[in-house]
Amino acid sequence: MKFTDTHTAPSCEETTLLLSRGLDCDLSGTEVAVMYAHVAGCDACRLAMGEMATLAFAMQALNRQHEALVLDDGFTTELTNKLAAVHNEGGVTQLRQFGRHAAQDAALRDRLQRAKDQTSFIQLCVQLGQESGYRFTTADVALQLESKAANDDCLSDAQLDKVAAGGGFDGRQMLDLLNGLND
Ligand SMILES: [Zn+2]
Repeated sequence: MKFTDTHTAPSCEETTLLLSRGLDCDLSGTEVAVMYAHVAGCDACRLAMGEMATLAFAMQALNRQHEALVLDDGFTTELTNKLAAVHNEGGVTQLRQFGRHAAQDAALRDRLQRAKDQTSFIQLCVQLGQESGYRFTTADVALQLESKAANDDCLSDAQLDKVAAGGGFDGRQMLDLLNGLND
């Protein structure tokens, strides 16, 4: 609604609309005059005007804060890295829990051991993990198993050579690595 005549008396409801448009600087001179004329004689609208102005001011301040954060490249990078770390930590924790779970579940171990190569073993881990309520990625499994294999003294050089050669995939050995993540 537009007010073009200063003699028009807006209702409280209309005044509230004028107030909110006024905060967006969207009022004609006449509308401002009509609005103030009502507000001057109406306690309820005076109160509403104060509350709306306070709210608008608070929101502006929040917006400015938010803009400052987004514009800061360092902050964005830091946040991205932290989120990635949290995500990864979560995945590794879940993977370890899955390893513990597998150690106590013969049927699960049996299915994992029957993977025909390392890639399908890893995919099977993710798939069976999800079925049991664990959330981790193939990247989590690959990274953890790799670093476990590299640090594992229990693996003989011959076994490592076999893995490196990509030849004899040993599901049982992979399973040992998975269970060993919790050591
Ligand atoms: Zn009023």
